[in-house]
Amino acid sequence: MSAAIYPITAIAPTVAEVLGVRAPRCAVEPPIEKILGDLRGADRVAVLAPDALGLTVWQHWRREMPFLTGLHERRHLVLRSVRPTMTPVNFAALVTGAELETHGLSNKDEELQCESLFDVVREAGGTSAGVGNAGYTGGRFLARYADLPGRVEPPDDDAVVEMTLRLAREHTPRFIITQLGEPDTTFHRVGPTAPEAEGVIRDTDRRVRRIVTGMVSLGYGVVVLADHSQHDVPAEDPSEYRGWHDDLIVPEDALVPCTWVR
Ligand SMILES: [Zn+2]
Repeated sequence: MSAAIYPITAIAPTVAEVLGVRAPRCAVEPPIEKILGDLRGADRVAVLAPDALGLTVWQHWRREMPFLTGLHERRHLVLRSVRPTMTPVNFAALVTGAELETHGLSNKDEELQCESLFDVVREAGGTSAGVGNAGYTGGRFLARYADLPGRVEPPDDDAVVEMTLRLAREHTPRFIITQLGEPDTTFHRVGPTAPEAEGVIRDTDRRVRRIVTGMVSLGYGVVVLADHSQHDVPAEDPSEYRGWHDDLIVPEDALVPCTWVR
């Protein structure tokens, strides 16, 4: 079975269409009909991204992620990240619908060179929220551009989950995007398929369950995806990292699973 692979830049126009607002100006892809079919007309959308939980990593650990795997068994597609397969570049692609040469954000402290979902939601009279750990793309980029900054310090993905739910309960932003940063950090340190990664995998599945069930009960359509995958760095490699992401080395690092629920 060979299913279509969608560009990650199709997510921003899809979220815009669900919300009934115009797509950011530099988004070039059409919305993804498969997602629209289920989410169209939702008043609010949440995008949840466990960092580096790409296709290869999820496939390796799927039995240890019963909640996320259950979502994928119902609704599933594969997205391709933009180059380079780095976190800030792909979160910027998620909110603008553009590639790096257009959105211009190659690290989390730079400025976007084009419009984002934060802008078009604001223009339509709604608010947005961006949530993540301080020092990460979530805290340094998403929280900086959103109307409601959800910056968690010290870094703690459980606190990121609670911050997301609290902002949704208290402010009901129409668009909220959340980065769970711990998977990427742990995979870099131990390798994404190493036995030592099982703890963060189980923790992340529990966090995805809490956030998805909470957000759905608050009336959100929720899209769960990742920014890129990771591969194990060979034991003989002198790198201090045991996991890395670069699709020029391992092409599958660009593929991420996407599921959605309402
Ligand atoms: Zn990384």
